[in-house]
Amino acid sequence: MGSGQVTSSVPEGSSEFQGKHVTVAGLGVSGIPAAKVLHARGAIVTVVNDGDDSRAREQAAELEALGVTVRLGDGATLPEGTELVVTAPGWKPDKPLFEAARAAGVEIWGDVELAWRLRGPDAAPWLAVTGTNGKTTTVQMLASILKAAGLRTAAVGNIGVSLLDAVLGEEHYDVLAVELSSYQLHWAPSLRAHSAAVLNLAPDHLDWHGSMEAYARDKGRIYEGNRVACVYNAADKATEDLVREADVEEGCRAIGFTLGTPGPSQLGVVEGILVDRAFVENRHKNAQELAEVSDVNPPAPHNIANALAAAALARAFGVPAKAVRDGLRNFTPDAHRIAHVADVDGVAYVDDSKATNTHAAEASLAAYESIVWIAGGLAKGATFDELVAKSAKRLRGAVLIGADRALIREALARHAPEVPVVDLDRTDTGAMLAAVQEAKRLAAEGDTVLLAPACASMDMFANYNKRGDAFAEAVRELGA
Ligand code: ADP
Repeated sequence: MGSGQVTSSVPEGSSEFQGKHVTVAGLGVSGIPAAKVLHARGAIVTVVNDGDDSRAREQAAELEALGVTVRLGDGATLPEGTELVVTAPGWKPDKPLFEAARAAGVEIWGDVELAWRLRGPDAAPWLAVTGTNGKTTTVQMLASILKAAGLRTAAVGNIGVSLLDAVLGEEHYDVLAVELSSYQLHWAPSLRAHSAAVLNLAPDHLDWHGSMEAYARDKGRIYEGNRVACVYNAADKATEDLVREADVEEGCRAIGFTLGTPGPSQLGVVEGILVDRAFVENRHKNAQELAEVSDVNPPAPHNIANALAAAALARAFGVPAKAVRDGLRNFTPDAHRIAHVADVDGVAYVDDSKATNTHAAEASLAAYESIVWIAGGLAKGATFDELVAKSAKRLRGAVLIGADRALIREALARHAPEVPVVDLDRTDTGAMLAAVQEAKRLAAEGDTVLLAPACASMDMFANYNKRGDAFAEAVRELGA
């Protein structure tokens, strides 16, 4: 979440929080604004935080000056008299603080729950998106479509724009495009979206959730209480199952999206055209053309799926077909998501540094025919057999970097033994240049050199942005 600017617009005094003892778990992007808002509404706020470094002390001093109590270096103990806990979304549910809260019958809210509860009576409805991959892209496409329809909107939530700012700020919105992570959903029991989409479900963050079932259950919360549409991925049965299990409002519809020909109540693709057979009169006979596949940027299969999900949510909100097309045309993806960096000697260099897990990498490998794949980093417990087996026929070669590259090398040996592999045993700053040079050597004209690491970056880089920047820089050196 963003800054604490929201406090100025929060009406002080009488509120359900007046005199209530609220514990905010975690300083930081969501904790600080939450503490300020609750304090401004009359709550007696104590912030608890695990860390006790100089930055935490600075932040604590700022809050203490307002009259908030801060306990640094002790995020485990529930302060005496706590009546409500508001937690940073990333805090694991099995922390002793939460166990104590549950034992005492104290409610636990996350940042999204707090924003949901604090929104005003004429607040904008939420169109919500979750999924293992594609959330940010889809939410941005959705916001672009809604804007093209002349609606006042913003892409908010897990995307880095505070929901608290959005619901309490000066700006008036007609509708919000909300990205929600599985952590945020875990801590948002009363959230009720207008419509919501689960894009896909693949194992991720299982150490946090405890099991795939628990992860899916938390993702599925996004459908609870939906009023108009629950949007699911027809190619991913697990998302459809979540719709079936959800308790929704009477009349709410299940809407599928598919890269194939859509059935009734689905959006899909027919001969290069994105079509809607859900939000049309007589959907058994009719279909509405929305846009062309070439309007989607980039037109990779998984991104067309994202566009269809965004279109489904927008159509559920009543947006006309033309706005879907205009919104998709106006959309440009964020950096490091299948970004075409350059063509050098007839070889395309593509940066998908954001492919930090195997599910994402699988989608990006599926987008090209003949690939020299640059992969590796921190595997976070993942296995690579399925990814490599599915992608083997597209691989011209592979260049492996990073701490857990042996896992990928072994999967390649098992499922793609004929593919040449360069195993770069380097983690210094020049390693990416070496990787790109090796990839160039393996590539033939017409190939794509694809950075889709299937791993986190933190063994070699500060984050995936820096990894992608290093790739682009190396490509520029090649071309120079
Ligand atoms: P998120 O916000 O869920 O992390 P992004 O839109 O930032 O998703 O995309 C992250 C990465 O996931 C992309 O770089 C791409 O590799 C992959 N990706 C995007 N959309 C999909 C999808 N629908 N299915 C699978 N992988 C996807």
